[in-house]
Amino acid sequence: MTQFYPPEAYGELNDGISQVLFTEDEIQARVLAIGQAISRDYEGCHPLMVGVLKGVFPFMSDLLRAITIPVEVDFMAIASYSSQARDKGYVRLQKDLDESIAGRHVLFVEDVVDTGLTLNYLLGNLRARQPASLKVCALFNKSRRRLISVPLQYKGFDLPDKFVVGYGLDYRELYRNLPFVGLLKPAVFAPNGS
Ligand code: 5GP
Repeated sequence: MTQFYPPEAYGELNDGISQVLFTEDEIQARVLAIGQAISRDYEGCHPLMVGVLKGVFPFMSDLLRAITIPVEVDFMAIASYSSQARDKGYVRLQKDLDESIAGRHVLFVEDVVDTGLTLNYLLGNLRARQPASLKVCALFNKSRRRLISVPLQYKGFDLPDKFVVGYGLDYRELYRNLPFVGLLKPAVFAPNGS
């Protein structure tokens, strides 16, 4: 089922990885299963999938093609926020949706749900626009770090309380192009930007 290359082909990016947590095949199989569930649940509903750039784009792209019913896609983008603002759950919208979601069946697609603060803010923002329904699909879930309870109707994988990269998830804008997900070597990962 592999579409791309083995990890070694990614040269210096792969050299920065200490451990692969989910292989390309594992991710693709899970995405296919989620797509089948969504196709079944939303039959006849013409849902709108909403994603937040940038991390979600590979997942969104694969999930979209794993869905067999008519579906539309839209994106939002949020600005990176200060740690104080983040702790309060504040998010600044950099790009809003192109279309109104009033009366639409909206499926919000996330890459990782960590503390839940970002998702909680964005769901509040979307709910105020009066969609017919609003559900969440998250590929990765770090439930141990949750600060606020958020509903996840479709889930890919549970993650340990560790920083991961690959399949859209970056470290300083790199590693998004890896088709697998892994942990960074301590020599590469400097969480405080040092
Ligand atoms: P939350 O508000 O739930 O704490 O943050 C969710 C956002 O934090 C995700 O959309 C993602 O951008 C970022 N994030 C959380 N955990 C990770 C991780 O392990 N790796 C990467 N690259 N980003 C993460």
